[in-house]
Amino acid sequence: MAQIGPNIKFNNGNEAPQFGLGTWKSKPGEVTEAVKYAIEIGYRHIDGAWAYQNEKEVGAALKAKIDDGTVKREELFIVSKLWCNFHKITSVEKVLKKTLSDLGLEYLDLYLIHWPFGFEECEDFWPTHADGTLRVSDIDYLETWEGMEGVLQKGLTKNIGVSNFNSEQIERLLKNCKVKPVTNQVEVHPYLTQKDLSKFCNDRGITITAYSPLGSPDRPWAKPDDPKLLDDEKLVNISKKYNKTPAQVVIRYQIDRGHLVIPKSVTKARILENSQVFDFKLSPEDIKYIDSFDVGGRICPMSEATKSPYWPFNIPF
Ligand code: NDP
Repeated sequence: MAQIGPNIKFNNGNEAPQFGLGTWKSKPGEVTEAVKYAIEIGYRHIDGAWAYQNEKEVGAALKAKIDDGTVKREELFIVSKLWCNFHKITSVEKVLKKTLSDLGLEYLDLYLIHWPFGFEECEDFWPTHADGTLRVSDIDYLETWEGMEGVLQKGLTKNIGVSNFNSEQIERLLKNCKVKPVTNQVEVHPYLTQKDLSKFCNDRGITITAYSPLGSPDRPWAKPDDPKLLDDEKLVNISKKYNKTPAQVVIRYQIDRGHLVIPKSVTKARILENSQVFDFKLSPEDIKYIDSFDVGGRICPMSEATKSPYWPFNIPF
């Protein structure tokens, strides 16, 4: 099957498929089949991370689909992210090589700094003090970025970018970098529309990749009475008008705004459903209406890291 959806051009001239598959919370036992199926039906952009602890199983799917001739490596766009406990300049290459070895790849298409703040350097995914609080470090993301520029130069990744950076952090990075980030991967959905950050990045040639576009209903800290985006009556009514599902409407909302978008699913029917968003377009009025659902509803605040000088959510955007 041909690639689903168009490519988006980055500020360095490279391109990426606008639409992709998320893999956070996709369990090792289910992610291989999900990624294989996604590639079979035309997904080419796969979003992963060291922190998702499933890169070996994602890699098994990539190998299967390359070996059986469904895709060539160069047709895929594979993303991973540098976790917070490897922010020292000397750690970036080492941990990227571990990711590449798990994925079974020679290079990534995009490597991101997962969060602007770091943790104390260790193999432990979530290092804590005896009282349970997170052991954040004060390593400057500018140091980390130098490490990212190093792995780019070595050809271990084709593009580099950031994730969860606020506008001031983007501005400071742009003033101090040799290579500009191609994207800022951030939370975007109708309850957190990110209009200001999107414009800010766009004006500086940085794309937005929208994560949790469906409102991340499987986030581990969801409470039973939290509002559920996909059940929102206003959204359900719009989706009826277009003869689409609420999930398809919120994915299309990102496409029409020019964002890259990476909905996660391990369910075949939903992987297919989420990809069927290129045969309709939301009207400007409906986009404006969906924009009005914004309640500042952040799903991934990473509040445990507020003690870090680089925690990103203490300014408006
Ligand atoms: P999403 O908003 O993509 O929602 C995923 C959830 O929605 C799953 O429970 C999935 O269920 C369900 N779902 C998928 N499709 C449908 C559908 N058509 N109808 C109803 N339910 C559906 O959440 P994520 O938080 O996972 O975000 C997407 C991706 O973004 C992540 O997987 C990850 O790759 C990236 N991300 C990056 C972050 C960062 O810090 N950079 C932070 C968070 C996410 P099921 O799988 O059971 O089908």
